[in-house]
Amino acid sequence: MPTFEYAPAPESRDTARLKPSYGIFVDGKFVDGHGAAVKTINPASEEPLAEIAEASAEDVDIAVKAARRAYDRTWSRMPGAERAKYLFRIARAIQERGRELAVLESLDNGKPIKESRDVDIPLAAAHFFYYAGWADKLSYAGFGPDPQPIGVAGQVIPWNFPLLMAAWKIAPALATGNTVVLKPAETTPLTAITLADIIADCDLPPGVVNILPGGPSVGQAIVDHPGVDKIAFTGSTGVGKMIQKSVATSGKRVSLELGGKAANIIYDDAPIDQAVEGIVNGIFFNQGHVCCAGSRLLVQESVYDDVIAALHDRLATLRLGDPLDKNTDIGAINSAAQLARIQELAASGDAEGATRWSPECPLPNKGFWFPPTIFTGVSQANRIAREEIFGPVLSVLSFRTPQEAVDKANNTPYGLSAGVWTEKGSLILWTANRLRAGVVWANTFNRFDPASPFGGYKESGFGREGGRHGLESYLAY
Ligand code: NAD
Repeated sequence: MPTFEYAPAPESRDTARLKPSYGIFVDGKFVDGHGAAVKTINPASEEPLAEIAEASAEDVDIAVKAARRAYDRTWSRMPGAERAKYLFRIARAIQERGRELAVLESLDNGKPIKESRDVDIPLAAAHFFYYAGWADKLSYAGFGPDPQPIGVAGQVIPWNFPLLMAAWKIAPALATGNTVVLKPAETTPLTAITLADIIADCDLPPGVVNILPGGPSVGQAIVDHPGVDKIAFTGSTGVGKMIQKSVATSGKRVSLELGGKAANIIYDDAPIDQAVEGIVNGIFFNQGHVCCAGSRLLVQESVYDDVIAALHDRLATLRLGDPLDKNTDIGAINSAAQLARIQELAASGDAEGATRWSPECPLPNKGFWFPPTIFTGVSQANRIAREEIFGPVLSVLSFRTPQEAVDKANNTPYGLSAGVWTEKGSLILWTANRLRAGVVWANTFNRFDPASPFGGYKESGFGREGGRHGLESYLAY
């Protein structure tokens, strides 16, 4: 078969308008943080992108006090219709600066530009539009006739969807009248800081949103601060457990969005070609750095060989490389530490007897890269079937009956998401009713909408983000 060569189609790096250094955003102003300044790097090349001022515990204190003043004096008293105008303004500004934000996100995170451009940034704007619509309708949301805000929300987010996670956190908090102190992840601060710039341009009252880059100690200082009324955390299950312990008895409200090990179930009557697209999107989207990734593929035995053969063919067409190239499907792993974790877990798959397969896929010399990988012959006891890999690695298991599929799917401490592929609506409902997962996708995967609630069972956390349900975490009623 003749091969079709793609010409390079890189998005211009200049669009990101990178500055040499960035401050922290407190009380409506950019200031120098009291923490050490650190360089954020491009994971695709390891080159430094910019110097980031980090916050200290002292900055957290200043930010929480600013957020409290803003809460007491302006934001909680403002009519919802007025708050909505600010949220609409932020949503439009994200759209206006969408290209800049997309390039920044791909540079800082390593994700392909087609994903940051078509998923992360539009969905971040959509969240602000969606929650702007709720701000003046809270009395009709089903939380009583006059639900009230909680106060100052401390929010800590991970690196896999940096701007989108900030939007998931900030938009519902502001719509409901709370003020915010948010910490982005240490490896991906750039789009959160640019969001702070947008918020300043939108003339939000000072202190309503404060953005403090920094590492775990800054996150801990936010969680422990007595002036914070509510903690919203997205990240690993280990850190989520620590947070829950440290706020126990404090009276703070908490919502936790943690890890996952989702089952993607392929029944034998599923349209195989469509299912293969869903499998690829489920685990290779965003290099598998997705809490709800379909990382455990469960295939009915009678179509197992067909599905694996079709997956091999499809994976051979995936293009790994420069995240800024518009043809790239698989970008860089976000950090050296995450790459080491993926390598270690993949090696455990080899050691425990599973069979590893990757398409021929030359990796760039610099940066952090891992090829799309499938493990077959996986047993439920293997680490790669139990632990979250958070990388482009799929573990494949088989099943014979729907009951066996459900039993295997639920055999995990997590419960964030799942997928079901079949042409029978009755089998979709039968399966979905039995899966202990916050989201069950039918004949699709990794589909997100601001109107749809998202969140976990068991060790995937509690509380819901998105939709009407997402208001509940930020309301006292
Ligand atoms: P992580 O838990 O290491 O870090 C997440 C955030 O918490 C970072 O900002 C980090 O600086 C901060 N942090 C670390 N230690 C802290 C502490 N002791 N106190 C307060 N804050 C602290 O997770 P990660 O490696 O950045 O992200 C990957 C994890 O996030 C995966 O497990 C993934 O499944 C999960 N995740 C979940 C969702 C969801 O919605 N359920 C979404 C995205 C990512």
